[in-house]
Amino acid sequence: MTEEAAFTPLVDAHCHVDLYPDPQAIIDASESSGIHTLAVTNAPSVFHHTRQLAAGKKFVRASVGLHPELAYTHAGEVDQLTSLLKVTRFVGEIGLDNTERDKEVRQIQRRVFDMILHECASYGDKILTIHSRRASKDVLDAIGTDYPGRVILHWFSGPLRDLSVAVARGFFFSVNPTMIRSTNGQRIVASIPRDRLLTETDGPFTMIHERACEPGDVQEVIEFLAQQWNVDVREARATVQENFQRMVDAPA
Ligand code: MN
Repeated sequence: MTEEAAFTPLVDAHCHVDLYPDPQAIIDASESSGIHTLAVTNAPSVFHHTRQLAAGKKFVRASVGLHPELAYTHAGEVDQLTSLLKVTRFVGEIGLDNTERDKEVRQIQRRVFDMILHECASYGDKILTIHSRRASKDVLDAIGTDYPGRVILHWFSGPLRDLSVAVARGFFFSVNPTMIRSTNGQRIVASIPRDRLLTETDGPFTMIHERACEPGDVQEVIEFLAQQWNVDVREARATVQENFQRMVDAPA
């Protein structure tokens, strides 16, 4: 086998490329190393910059989002997000965050999330990367049982009963280096079927060796999965790559 044929791309299914000091450098590194990188954004108004940086790249996809923690202040940007659905299949970071205590803010979060889900459903082939901190049940309720598209629950930390529901609905889960260092995260990873597992960094919000994680750091998750699954690192890497490819290839 040639070296090229043996090459399996890594996958960073949730990375805030635009929030690093040098976004272009992150994108260039993903492109030259062959790391499938979903460049999520937190508001429609900042999507354009990431989209420009990712233009023409084979491994980097720009994703339009409206982060739940910005939903209240940026609710007026939902229309912008809706029109940007014409130019990308990838949507995120979106979702709900129940660490927010203000009832009104939570209601707006939910309304914004519902509107985005509704618009995405009309396309049928959107790939969503979803935040669900202390809100996994509400996120599952909002998505419902017949959402036509792909769902990735990013950094899932909810109860295993909600995880089972998500598995039954065909959802994917993206796992980062911080998750595999916590007991709860390890318990969750052990419960995710191998054919639904993706890797992510959520960089630059996660740290490794006292610096912000970058897409290549998903290798640490791959090594952990190899141990968990009792397979070699190459096989774990191939499984995650196959999952990503299947998710992207098949429309719903
Ligand atoms: Mn994130």
